Amino acid sequence: MTQIRSADPDINLIKEVKRAGGETLKKCYQCATCTVVCKLSPAENPFPRKEMIMAQWGQVERLSRDPDLWLCYQCNDCTTYCPRGARPGDVLAAIRAYIYKYYSFPSFMGKALANPWALPILLLVPMIAIFAMMYSFTGGNVAFMETEIVYSKFLPHGWIEMMFISGNILIFLFAFVGLWKFWKGIQPSEPGSSSVGFIPALIITVKDIISHMRFSRCEANNARFLAHALVLFGFIGAMITAGLAVMALVLIDLDPPIPLTHPIKWLGNISGLAGFVGLTILVFRRITGKDKVGANGYPDWLFLVMLYLVFITGLLTQFLRLADTAYIAYSVYYIHLVIVFFLLWYAPYSKFAHMFYRSLALTHARMIKREPRS
Ligand code: SF4
Ligand code: SF4
Repeated sequence: MTQIRSADPDINLIKEVKRAGGETLKKCYQCATCTVVCKLSPAENPFPRKEMIMAQWGQVERLSRDPDLWLCYQCNDCTTYCPRGARPGDVLAAIRAYIYKYYSFPSFMGKALANPWALPILLLVPMIAIFAMMYSFTGGNVAFMETEIVYSKFLPHGWIEMMFISGNILIFLFAFVGLWKFWKGIQPSEPGSSSVGFIPALIITVKDIISHMRFSRCEANNARFLAHALVLFGFIGAMITAGLAVMALVLIDLDPPIPLTHPIKWLGNISGLAGFVGLTILVFRRITGKDKVGANGYPDWLFLVMLYLVFITGLLTQFLRLADTAYIAYSVYYIHLVIVFFLLWYAPYSKFAHMFYRSLALTHARMIKREPRS
């Protein structure tokens, strides 16, 4: 006897995917051209056609357990060939934004980061926290601005480090809850012949990410390879610079400001410039429409703009210090700190999260030997 199953669609998923850059979702008529074109898709049970129909039918549960969603790099090759203009690359990006919100813990944070109306409140949190620390350190006395510009007179590096460590411990715990649920969710119901362990698979994944090997397979939108690499290395370099600077100032008592000729400054400036150039390429291509991928949903723009502002304000703080414009320099430094903490504290809920979910999905794919077919 035929068994009838209810699809039980979640209309909210369809609405949100459309809002986040996947408005073409319903155009798909399941011809499967995209799965044939995609170079990252495995031979067996390939993507993205199946994800398109899951999303059309509002299958949140199935999508939340689908690791293939995260193997897509939004390269746009499938979008170029789709005969219906359904833009599967953009739709999958919008589904991913829904899924990291789905797994977010606490869940209201995921909703807040996806809602433009919540942005002022989200910004207020680091604004108030940094202002309160600065006020308690300086006692509201801004006389230090009348001497040489040294940012540690505004807020000591040790205090920033304390804020960074305490905030990040909490954030990593919250992120772990979501990532753990995701990891459990993507495990196959019947254990297969997993022959690669988690750690070796993770090491290969990290090498893949650093080499941008999968980006390099992209044809339609290969300019993203360079831009993405510049942003990633710029960001990693900036984080290393911040860590080294604090170590130098707190542990070995180097007197601030660190001179321009110091290797830490070199690393910081090169990283800042790399990130700035990479983001300029990304933003320019999206605005001018040259980047045919670029789902221009709110989560994408929020992340891009915040990252862009971090690099710009980071470089500006140094130039304004050299130009000896105290009030402007300290104001820009304050904005820089606010945005840095905005990005870090909200990382598990913003587009930043795709980095963690994708790394896990790639590791899982390595473990079960689910490799691209070509
Ligand atoms: S997204 Fe486009 S190419 Fe892919 S199955 Fe749908 S209509 Fe075909
Ligand atoms: S955007 Fe690229 S990686 Fe993603 S499904 Fe399409 S062809 Fe594959």
